[in-house]
Amino acid sequence: MLITLDDRLHALRGATAEIAAELRTHALAVDADPSRMKPYLELEAFGLIRRATTPDRFGRGPLRLGGHVYDQRSCLERVVSTVELARGDAGMLLSCPGPALAGILLDELGDEEQQRRFHERLSDGRTWSFFAMTEPDRGNDASALETRLVRDGDDLYRLHGTKRYVGNGSRGGVGVVFARTGRGPLSIRAALVEPPAPGYRGESLDMVGLRGARLSEISLDGLPVEPHMLLGSHKSPARRGLWGAVRTFHHMRAQVAAMAVGTGLALHELVVAHRPGAPGAEEVLDRLEACRQLVYAAGAAVDRAPDSARLPSMAKLGATRQAVAVSAWAVRSLGAAALVEHPLLEKWRRDVCGLEFMEGTTNIQREHIAKSHLRARSTA
Ligand SMILES: Cc1cc2nc3c(=O)[nH]c(=O)nc-3n(C[C@H](O)[C@H](O)[C@H](O)COP(=O)(O)OP(=O)(O)OC[C@H]3O[C@@H](n4cnc5c(N)ncnc54)[C@H](O)[C@@H]3O)c2cc1C
Repeated sequence: MLITLDDRLHALRGATAEIAAELRTHALAVDADPSRMKPYLELEAFGLIRRATTPDRFGRGPLRLGGHVYDQRSCLERVVSTVELARGDAGMLLSCPGPALAGILLDELGDEEQQRRFHERLSDGRTWSFFAMTEPDRGNDASALETRLVRDGDDLYRLHGTKRYVGNGSRGGVGVVFARTGRGPLSIRAALVEPPAPGYRGESLDMVGLRGARLSEISLDGLPVEPHMLLGSHKSPARRGLWGAVRTFHHMRAQVAAMAVGTGLALHELVVAHRPGAPGAEEVLDRLEACRQLVYAAGAAVDRAPDSARLPSMAKLGATRQAVAVSAWAVRSLGAAALVEHPLLEKWRRDVCGLEFMEGTTNIQREHIAKSHLRARSTA
């Protein structure tokens, strides 16, 4: 199904495309030293990203561009703007302080007070959030996570375990940590935590790609969690932990796919600027535009049916694979020396590999797609 953007979405695409240049200007500096963010916190692009991802009742009202008003929850709106912002630079986009992935989960699982607390903590524009799911020995398989949430008396829990590859884990001021209280999948819960806190230690990892995401390892050594900080307690037991995480993943897979399309378009632009008429340029652009359509379709599907994995996984699989192929084509077209001459080419070549791993690898997306086909067939 072809998604045609209406005037509202065109205006959003235009505004984010314009502002994306600001992200590219600082991309290499943040890649070189992702700990030095102070000079960039006031960027107009960061302000727009925060505004577009903070529910209007907790921020400065709804996002308005021209005569149009935007819904901060829509996945389609977010993918339309993410393609353009990532065309500026995906690493910079990920370095922006704000609700990010945790904000989507709070929207699914947080009660009103938890959401208010989370967004208030982020309201200074200088605080990062994090979403701690992945563990050293439990990457793609979230249902097998080992971090424990243990009761300590009537009014307290404690978190014990280690999380790894968590964006902003070392610098976050608020985030969610997934842990289990027992054996089964329903025992997995998400806790809201607010570092610095006793029993919490976050250390940055030295990453090759997407360094702006500031991936970290988090050690949890008895971190106290009060019951009111557990997300989803107002929902039925089946809708407290993993259910919210899976919905968040569908949303984020579409966003990562959008980042892959944006990075692919940036690479294409760079090649054409330095080698007009490069062989394959037209075909590469056609393929990226086809991926953009798939990503838009995934965004619309998440808005329509947030529990369905198929389109977000297809978009992530297709778009990240395409971005990796485009980065190889870019190096072939400009010659290996271009990796030294054009630092952004070298950077984006590294970044596309990170996109492949983020939110479940290619193999895992294949598994989701196969399962959803089999489910649909057995239902039919
Ligand atoms: C830029 C970036 C940002 C990230 N941000 C976050 C974050 O904010 N929070 C967070 O919790 N995590 C985050 N992650 C972690 C990410 O979700 C994991 O890297 C991802 O789930 C893969 O886990 P892993 O790296 O442990 O790989 P593993 O799961 O160990 O997989 C290793 C290899 O084995 C293959 N494999 C694994 N299982 C199967 C299977 N069943 N069938 C076939 N092949 C399989 C994989 O495809 C892969 O090639 C981030 C990662 C990146 C790169």
